[in-house]
Amino acid sequence: MSPAGDPQRTDFSLAFVVKALHQARAINLEQAKTLISREALLHARVLKENGGDTQKYDVSPVELVAAHRLPVTGRPTEVLDQDRITVVAAEAAGVPYHKIDPLKLDMPLITQTLSRPFAVRHVLLPLSTQGDVLNLAVANPFDHELFAEVSRLSGRRIRPFLSAKSDILHALQDTHGFKNTVARAVDEAVSDPGLGNFEQLVVLGGEKELQAEDKPVINAVEYLLRYAFDQRASDIHLEPKRDQTVMRLRIDGVLHPAFTLPRAVHAPIAARFKMLARMDITEKRRPQDGRIKTERDGVEIELRVSTLPTAFGEKMVLRIFDPEKMTTLDQLGFEAHEQKLFESWIGAPHGLILVTGPTGSGKTTTLYAALRALAGPEVNVTTIEDPIEMVWDGFNQVQVQPKLDLDFSAALRHILRQDPDIIMVGEIRDGETANNAIQCALTGHLVLSTLHTNDAIGAVARLRDLGVPPFLLASSLLGVMAQRLVRTNCPACSEPIKLSAEQIQSLAVPIPLLPSGPTFTQGKGCVRCRETGYRGRSGVFEMFHAGREVRELIAQGADGGAIEQAARQQGMRRLRESAVHKLATGVTTLEEVVRMTADT
Ligand SMILES: [Zn+2]
Repeated sequence: MSPAGDPQRTDFSLAFVVKALHQARAINLEQAKTLISREALLHARVLKENGGDTQKYDVSPVELVAAHRLPVTGRPTEVLDQDRITVVAAEAAGVPYHKIDPLKLDMPLITQTLSRPFAVRHVLLPLSTQGDVLNLAVANPFDHELFAEVSRLSGRRIRPFLSAKSDILHALQDTHGFKNTVARAVDEAVSDPGLGNFEQLVVLGGEKELQAEDKPVINAVEYLLRYAFDQRASDIHLEPKRDQTVMRLRIDGVLHPAFTLPRAVHAPIAARFKMLARMDITEKRRPQDGRIKTERDGVEIELRVSTLPTAFGEKMVLRIFDPEKMTTLDQLGFEAHEQKLFESWIGAPHGLILVTGPTGSGKTTTLYAALRALAGPEVNVTTIEDPIEMVWDGFNQVQVQPKLDLDFSAALRHILRQDPDIIMVGEIRDGETANNAIQCALTGHLVLSTLHTNDAIGAVARLRDLGVPPFLLASSLLGVMAQRLVRTNCPACSEPIKLSAEQIQSLAVPIPLLPSGPTFTQGKGCVRCRETGYRGRSGVFEMFHAGREVRELIAQGADGGAIEQAARQQGMRRLRESAVHKLATGVTTLEEVVRMTADT
């Protein structure tokens, strides 16, 4: 077989794919020859990885090339995988390429158009319909007989899109598997799920109510959790509407719709989550919270669950705390000089360190990372939290319980008798807590806490407003750090881009002078980042160091402007300046910088 192929024949063969890759300069001639000569070997490898049954498994040429794991030209750390090969093959075949996004699958269309065995055997995934056209993801762009067959089955004309085979099969497994568990749950719940209020129906009709312990409900809940973990979600939202329940996932800080579930399964699924979280299942009119401990691949994962009664049922939010995500100081996104400064604060024998920012700005993650850096057998680290966000063996963690009169300031008084070295107060909300925290910092303890202020300097005025005497603050404060999170460019698809003069001007902050010039980059969107162009997040910091001059100003009761001037003279960078630095070094995009620093 030669890589040249025959232009008349439209066989989706290894020769066709290898030729396409070579022409697109994705592989060199040597690699092309090697691939062709090793067809039998690669074929055997793919079969072995997929169960080894020649009868059942049709090996595609894309899989053959992917099995060779060639490096990507220009990106030596990445391999030529099914996606990258499929992009090139689609171009050569004259068929549009389609990246399958697990969050954008049309479950009813997929499960109702083709049977599961048929779709799996022929690797077909219905994507959407437009009039009488069915958009269909396929793994072989030239199988016209098959398209005619699907056209007959669906009653629509077929518009094929080439997708990675592994993605199609994965999507089929997900949608059909989930549909079956939900369908069984609905079947067991009521004979007609479309009749409106499920609970009323159960009461009035005397139908068997689906229980949280029923097998289909257990399976559906397990599936939802596994799906959320797979998508790297930080939160799961389950929102009952009039006719259905919408499940949304927060990924890298942004909510994405994931599933719609039949109305009838909302109550049993919510009940199952409540049961796992040890909540009162019969209580549906009051908000509740609890936690679920589960595991994934042997790693314990904790979920914090809260319910909120709404017009159509209980809305649930599950926050996912994966201990693997417990970050260290190195992973927060500090630049070298910032980390050095922060380490000098937490290395002090006593004093107060504050982290400020709105909810969701990563304050808690920063504090945990600091405490983990400090914890050890010779120090007593105690935290007072509301709620405890992450359980860590090395800390003594106290949950605030207002019902038992154990608020932040009361808890602080108690733990002082427990000989702590380092104390983390989840949040300073009132004058009593503020003054107690300062007292602790002045009496030989290192105290870390958070405040709700927009910027770092704002913490001084806020504490003054809470009744902290300026001279006490001046003698205890080590530093304040304001922070935000920006989404970071996807390493698999980001490329250098140019920014216009207007765009740069709109930042209202000069681009920092870097030795090699600014390198603006942006992700184009790929399967790895679900078309967003972003993967992961990084902190952006404004670090206000309480040096001698600044302390004197605080003690004198100077206003924010004067303090800021002094801090800037010592090199304090505003939040937006730090964000623009991350922009100029290719970490994030202009949109992210504008979005995350709009309020500063
Ligand atoms: Zn990407």
